[in-house]
Amino acid sequence: MTPRRRIYPVFVPHAGCPNNCVFCNQKRISGSLFPVSAESVGKELSALPDGAGYELAFYGGSFTAIPASEQESLLAAAQPARERGAVAAIRVSTRPDAIDENALVRLKKYGVGTVELGAQSMIDSVLLASARGHTSEDTVKAAGLVKAFGFQLILQMMTGLPGSSPKLDTETAERIIALRPDGVRIYPTVVVRDTALESMWRSGAYVEHTVEDAVELCAELLPLFSSAGIPVIRLGLNPSDELSEGGAVGGAYHPALGELVRSRILRREAEELLSRVPPGSNVSLSVTPGELSAMIGQHRENVRYLQERFSLGSLRVVSEGEKTGKKQDHAGTLVLAIHASAPSGAE
Ligand code: SF4
Repeated sequence: MTPRRRIYPVFVPHAGCPNNCVFCNQKRISGSLFPVSAESVGKELSALPDGAGYELAFYGGSFTAIPASEQESLLAAAQPARERGAVAAIRVSTRPDAIDENALVRLKKYGVGTVELGAQSMIDSVLLASARGHTSEDTVKAAGLVKAFGFQLILQMMTGLPGSSPKLDTETAERIIALRPDGVRIYPTVVVRDTALESMWRSGAYVEHTVEDAVELCAELLPLFSSAGIPVIRLGLNPSDELSEGGAVGGAYHPALGELVRSRILRREAEELLSRVPPGSNVSLSVTPGELSAMIGQHRENVRYLQERFSLGSLRVVSEGEKTGKKQDHAGTLVLAIHASAPSGAE
């Protein structure tokens, strides 16, 4: 992986996309209600200081499905900023079926370094039920081409799509791992206002993937990617005023979903340790400082859950860094250390 840079996002809502995925209302998801133009991109970038080294990211829509001349205009608008070091790298996101050799040659010519593909699911029946308009084979082919051209490859997957299940989402994660991307984004499905999914949900044809469903499932998926050495660079939609103020009407929208998942992973590790502790014990869980708040959980949820589940006399979470093993401290409290950390990286 290349070093992580500060991202300068430009949202290209629905531009170039010939499709209407059931969950998509790109304007609400990106929070951008006005289409971007080469002129506006050039103007915005001209305000960045020389040498700032941003990574310019064209998100939303399907970049390589925009007419070639518009792609060239947008990318050309970034070149002055690139030449003076204000932009050090460029990434685009697109659909798997909008990738071919010509598209990749064009991206190379303008210095794009990373291509993100919206795989979403590797199960064809799920792709069909979500009206994605491409197959898992399209993703396999596109991922191979992107890597063969020497781009960094990021794959996006969604959980809880229509027709899916935790088992099928886990299969998607495994098939994505087999494609050896440089990173992954996981987007649990959110029911966004004014989408086909909203109608399906309101009519009962779709059962929402709740925040709790997403947390349970993603706490299984993150360790799979982590043990395959593939960073999860984002978990959950970026919070936006548009989504928080009514745009997200159901499903797995939470502004701190990644934190909730890390917290659940740590809770599972704690459950493993506490299963050997007699009821009534006073316990201290020792974690590294960076894990303290995730271990405690939002509104002390983990502490309450663990204390009740294991009938503990008391439970404290302490930041003790490197303590390992199990011992009695001077006050007769059992000190347990969480050895493994929750995979980090998901924002
Ligand atoms: S491919 Fe992307 S932009 Fe197009 S409808 Fe689907 S989610 Fe929206």
